[in-house]
Amino acid sequence: MKLLAGVQAGTARILSATVGHEQGRWFVSFQAEVKRDLQRVARPHVAVGTGLGVKTLAVMADSTGEIRTVTNPQHYDTALKRLRRASRVVSRRQGPDRQTGQKPSRRWEKANAQRNKIHHRVANLREDALHKLTTSVAAEYGTVVVEDLNAAGMLRNRRLARRIADAGFGEIRRRLTYKTRPRRATRMIAADRWYPSSKTCSKCGAVNAKPPLHVRTYECDACGLVIDRDDNAALNLAALATACMTGTGVAGDQGTAPAVSKPCGADQKTRATRTRRTTSAGRAGGATPPRQRQTETRDRTHAEVLTLR
Ligand SMILES: [Zn+2]
Repeated sequence: MKLLAGVQAGTARILSATVGHEQGRWFVSFQAEVKRDLQRVARPHVAVGTGLGVKTLAVMADSTGEIRTVTNPQHYDTALKRLRRASRVVSRRQGPDRQTGQKPSRRWEKANAQRNKIHHRVANLREDALHKLTTSVAAEYGTVVVEDLNAAGMLRNRRLARRIADAGFGEIRRRLTYKTRPRRATRMIAADRWYPSSKTCSKCGAVNAKPPLHVRTYECDACGLVIDRDDNAALNLAALATACMTGTGVAGDQGTAPAVSKPCGADQKTRATRTRRTTSAGRAGGATPPRQRQTETRDRTHAEVLTLR
């Protein structure tokens, strides 16, 4: 137990403990204050744009132009298939009915328990994949750019709904927030939800009409670039960070002081979560997205909640 070691060494202090019971498992959560050293990242000068993948968990493009695709966890699709099958079994059996006061049959209870078990497995697989993704991204790059997706609007699209819910994009963002600045003094930039990452050409900067969601490739009318839609969006996000950093060498300060990140020369004292600012750096030869609003990772204390299961 890491926490115990911290308490004994005097670097951690437990503030409170909560005991809970969920799905047949007992767990205890400690709220603790932990002193920790900043961790070094592998490539502090490189920025990465993380885009939502449709067939995959995520697509990442860094400022050197390298594109990486993060696949869904293994066994995930199999588990989903099993979940669907188990749900069908449940619905064929006599379940509880509040209106008539019908008690569920024993066969229903059994099938329902089986379904919940698979459901838990799917959730755990996803949780694990999201943690691995965010940790590796945070450990590698000096700047991470994510999209502030209009998740509610996208969830209305029924075909994509499950994929997006599964990808847990809000969750990726939340985890990156605490894995970047407080732990590594790196930055996370959330691109404004109106930043046209899927409309802008990552090569020439021209803004084309947004292709419908089922069109998975992006074609530029201006320069003729043909590229995967998710790759294009991720490249644009990475470029956003570069435009933001130009000339400041911000990421290079990592490790000299606990809080050195100043995206776009923003004032450290900016307390508001949303700051309005204009990026001056344009793109070569094309329409520049007029105004980009970015959210900076909020200052946090080093206290965090550790959950032991
Ligand atoms: Zn183009």
